[in-house]
Amino acid sequence: MLEYALRPAIMQGLEDHLRGQLICPNDSGYGAARKVWNGMVDKYPALIIRCADVADVVTTVQFARDQHLLVAMRSGGHSISGSSVCDGGIVIDLSRMKGICIDPEKKTAWAQAGLTLGEFVQATQAYGLATTTGTVGATGLAGLTLGGGLGWFMGKYGLTIDNLLSVDLVTADGRVLRASATEHPDLFWGVCGGGGNFGIVTAFEFQLHPVGQILAGKVVYPISKAREVLRFYREYTRTAPDELTAYASLMTTPGGLPAIAINLCYCGLLEEGECAVSPVRKFGAPLVDLIRPRSYLKLITQADAGAPAGRRYYEKASTLSELSDEAIEAIVEYGTACTSPLSQVLIQHVHGAASRIGPTETAFALRGESYVICMVAAWDGGEASQPHQHIAWARACWRAMEPFASSGVYVNFLGNEGEGRVRAAYGVNYERLVALKNRYDPTNFFALNQNIQPTMKEVEPCLK
Ligand SMILES: Cc1cc2nc3c(=O)[nH]c(=O)nc-3n(C[C@H](O)[C@H](O)[C@H](O)COP(=O)(O)OP(=O)(O)OC[C@H]3O[C@@H](n4cnc5c(N)ncnc54)[C@H](O)[C@@H]3O)c2cc1C
Repeated sequence: MLEYALRPAIMQGLEDHLRGQLICPNDSGYGAARKVWNGMVDKYPALIIRCADVADVVTTVQFARDQHLLVAMRSGGHSISGSSVCDGGIVIDLSRMKGICIDPEKKTAWAQAGLTLGEFVQATQAYGLATTTGTVGATGLAGLTLGGGLGWFMGKYGLTIDNLLSVDLVTADGRVLRASATEHPDLFWGVCGGGGNFGIVTAFEFQLHPVGQILAGKVVYPISKAREVLRFYREYTRTAPDELTAYASLMTTPGGLPAIAINLCYCGLLEEGECAVSPVRKFGAPLVDLIRPRSYLKLITQADAGAPAGRRYYEKASTLSELSDEAIEAIVEYGTACTSPLSQVLIQHVHGAASRIGPTETAFALRGESYVICMVAAWDGGEASQPHQHIAWARACWRAMEPFASSGVYVNFLGNEGEGRVRAAYGVNYERLVALKNRYDPTNFFALNQNIQPTMKEVEPCLK
């Protein structure tokens, strides 16, 4: 790791210009600062800069260019692939930039990139407002938004990007730009689903909506009923109103019982919600019914316990336009053969407002109603816990889904899976994204992401 060390005089020059924190391999906080959510990721950057403000981001971008350093961008640190940290390069860490400003009249939020979803929702809910976010509070707002943002309100309010009004962004050449439907609209289009390919977003402006108590939670059934529950889930989601988003999961309960659950959220009038969820409650003989009126903040922060940082994770994902009987058979076969009680197969229903936007209207191409299937292998411990068996399970499950899957895959659920899968993620928008990359990042300075490779003559970022 020391072979990457930068000369002290160079570091001093950088530190003199920063308001944030510079962390080197020999500093006491380095060990914690280089860690990300996925315990499988174990990388040693030459330098970590915890930026305090936009000026720090600009300074760090210029420094990284001058020093020809590989650049990783980190906000919430929750990427599945571990792309927010690198070996030997520089981590531009925005996790301390947590400013947020709500305009209750316009129902908008200006939010800095270092906020987690829980922090963002806490601030917006103080005004009785919210927008679509992911389902787990500790996830970073930035990475989630830039990939699209699937969540409990997507049926009613669309994806997170469908509620994005503008971004403040630092480009590869150190310019600070605002992008929106009217300013740099081409860039704004690309940022909405194109990941961190075009610059470092320092702040987002969102449209919010009035959201009070929601009806949400899960109903758990015995795993022996998995087939019937999934067939029921298919019919139930086919007719779900926009207010109702439902996921199914094959997992093991905290008590150690393999089970299948339907997790749902109704964001509308509670009385209407009670009618909408009653078929789930009445179906079969549930082991437990945990659907209750609750706050949105509680719903997403309670989910944190199920995905703690530091655990080892490996994930594969597929997109199915429908859940055929054969697909259900495959899900049941692999969902009941997990190699770890912490693993699960999760089925997310994408519908309503999220599916009514055209595939080229934003850079997020996977529009249309669909089921996003995630095979999440999770386990505690190192080599002794035989990671390969858990990884092999997720891969086998994914292969079994392939005959039923479309070519598309949600960019935020991709691991390090190669160029073909990256192209599949951007789908019909890939060529337009390449043109945008040529325009805003022709040297591929921002390469650690689900990378859109520029086709202009490229200057390779090199490792120091
Ligand atoms: C427990 C868990 C639950 C999840 N649930 C959902 C969910 O419900 N819905 C959903 O849609 N997704 C979900 N995801 C996936 C999630 O959207 C991605 O993992 C996302 O990348 C996390 O964002 P982050 O800021 O924490 O990521 P980081 O690891 O910090 O960053 C990941 C990548 O995003 C880019 N990036 C990050 N910050 C910036 C920035 N400021 N500017 C430019 N680029 C940047 C970079 O390319 C970086 O490599 C979940 C992930 C986890 C681990």
